[in-house]
Amino acid sequence: MFFNFYLKLVICKFYYMGFKKGQKGKFFIIDIYCSNCQQHLYKYQKEGPGSLVKCYCNRIKKDFCQQDMVCPICNTQFARKIRIHNRDANKIIKGKVFIKGHIKK
Ligand SMILES: [Zn+2]
Repeated sequence: MFFNFYLKLVICKFYYMGFKKGQKGKFFIIDIYCSNCQQHLYKYQKEGPGSLVKCYCNRIKKDFCQQDMVCPICNTQFARKIRIHNRDANKIIKGKVFIKGHIKK
């Protein structure tokens, strides 16, 4: 019984360590807006610094668009569907969006 508990504790500790390690590649939540009409398009979890070139679909936390990659207000297409490393992603079309949030260039 006690051994079981101890084992669980050790597993938890290792799990936690792994979790902490995973946090090293910094994530931050950024907001993506339409540059034409300032409509909020995405809440996106970005990995690492640098300018935004693409959005991985599974990292989009909130999608404010009714249609795929088209601004719901001014109907501007701001991204194109691509596939990178077997993951669906949206490639941002340059100049169609601007970003608010913690992002370093
Ligand atoms: Zn717009």
